[in-house]
Amino acid sequence: MRILTTLILIVVAPSVALGQTTPTEIAAAADVLTRIEALQTRIDPAARAARIVGSSTPAREEVMRSVGTWWDDEMEALSDHIGHNPEVGWQEFETVATLVKVLRAKGFTVETGVANLATAFVASWDSPAGTDGPTLGLIGEYDALRDIEGPFHGDQHNAQTPVAIAAALGLKAYMTDASVPGSIRLYGTPAEEVGPPAKTIMYEAGVFDGADILVRSHSSDQTARGRAGFGVCCLNINEVKYTFTGRPAHQLTSWNGRNALSAAVRFYTSVDGLRSTFRPEASIQGVIPEGGVAPNVVPAHAVVDYYIRYPDEVYLEHMTNMIDDAARGAAMATGTEVSIDRYGEYRDGITLGTLDELYFEYAKALGAPNLNEVPQRPAGYEETGWVTREIPGVGVSVYSSRETYHTKGMEADGLGEIGHAGFRMDAQIMAAILYDYLTNESLRNVIAEEHSELKALLSEYHQRLREVYAPEIER
Ligand SMILES: [Zn+2]
Repeated sequence: MRILTTLILIVVAPSVALGQTTPTEIAAAADVLTRIEALQTRIDPAARAARIVGSSTPAREEVMRSVGTWWDDEMEALSDHIGHNPEVGWQEFETVATLVKVLRAKGFTVETGVANLATAFVASWDSPAGTDGPTLGLIGEYDALRDIEGPFHGDQHNAQTPVAIAAALGLKAYMTDASVPGSIRLYGTPAEEVGPPAKTIMYEAGVFDGADILVRSHSSDQTARGRAGFGVCCLNINEVKYTFTGRPAHQLTSWNGRNALSAAVRFYTSVDGLRSTFRPEASIQGVIPEGGVAPNVVPAHAVVDYYIRYPDEVYLEHMTNMIDDAARGAAMATGTEVSIDRYGEYRDGITLGTLDELYFEYAKALGAPNLNEVPQRPAGYEETGWVTREIPGVGVSVYSSRETYHTKGMEADGLGEIGHAGFRMDAQIMAAILYDYLTNESLRNVIAEEHSELKALLSEYHQRLREVYAPEIER
């Protein structure tokens, strides 16, 4: 029956391209979605994008040409070099050393180890004309995927920072030659593929403070843009670690001990017991990575690690509260103590029509292959969602592979002609968008307006959800 309901929803509801997935969310968001539509009709991002891209200036042409040259002459080889020397998340030491060296040689000041993350960095450049202008931000990732045969760049993160560098160099030359005030910040963000979410940590440490706009490229099996609104690719997530502490004792005098593994197992079972209490869209998976070392000693230390997922953050909070209570209950029942560490959060991000349409218009103008004219569900431009709520931005992702994500085929395409052509376009489009942002005040204003309105609508949506869920999430 549930399957039937889901099928009917998928068939009849236009919501598949929206950020809301469950019937409750769709109903709660109805008014908010109407207002997003009204906002889009009023600001008409597609028409604006066509106007901007259609009215070319020699300066912008020159920026895009020089970005292409930077790609051809140096950055393509750098992308391939990183691709051939993959390092997994939090271990990208050689990659970062290489990137930092290149950035310093190109005139950037680089601060490494930002937010206390060994492989995170910020490269800064301020215009000789002064900093009284926009701060243009670019995001670069570089972690490879884990695999039993060793790390590999099956998501083409090897290209991201070279793409960002090419774009930054084109803008830097323009701002210098034309005496345009402003700043460029290139954020090196590690470990996109493994938790805890690096961008959230960097965001909370204030690393992105001051950026007026952020752009980021990514591999793609098509050229598509997002619909304006809010959403996330793969549910909102809380990553929570529960550490139980007991007291060790020899097996033969176990009455002197307090068994942390017993607490962990009890907790794990309690969470299974909660499953029918949660709405069906919930996804909860946990592991017990630490549960003692020797059978003749009462385990005094055990860890349970959970990924708790739900399509929206309001219900997710409710689930997490109940699971936290189950952990406390298991600790009480076993005479142990539990500490709860929520080490990662992924949330709905904000997608702006203004910037996504502008990206798509440039992609069409440059002849990007494999165009999908249907706007995709909004998911923000970075995976944690948090940064997108504070800083407007866009993900630029021209077709760069015949294969799907996280595959050897995508890695191979990233090192070949299809990837190279896509990355070159990504860099040119990112530079063009930042050029427009830098030089077009009315574009800056409409971006700010759209972002603040969508942000307000997102919090209204959450308020509406809290009302709808109130009877069932009451504590
Ligand atoms: Zn990725």
